[in-house]
Amino acid sequence: MENEEEIMRITAIGDEQNRYEVESDSGSRYEIRYAGTGDDAEVDLWTCSCPAGRHGRTCKHLRAFWEWLADERERIEAEEDAARERAEER
Ligand SMILES: [Zn+2]
Repeated sequence: MENEEEIMRITAIGDEQNRYEVESDSGSRYEIRYAGTGDDAEVDLWTCSCPAGRHGRTCKHLRAFWEWLADERERIEAEEDAARERAEER
């Protein structure tokens, strides 16, 4: 039997795109932070404040977060592409 995926709600904290709050189905909340300084957000530089994450493990929050982040970036890129196309049509 497959494990049921928990639904995680992810919200940005502040405008710097380096802190996010993750709230799981069960209502626990953790903070995900980017520990790097570069522009390229390397996957292994994100940390979660849950017990597993504090020990440097890739917890379910981080996995859900990365998926969310990839979707989010795709969405932003698609929006930018669409805006560029509109601008070029003129
Ligand atoms: Zn976690």
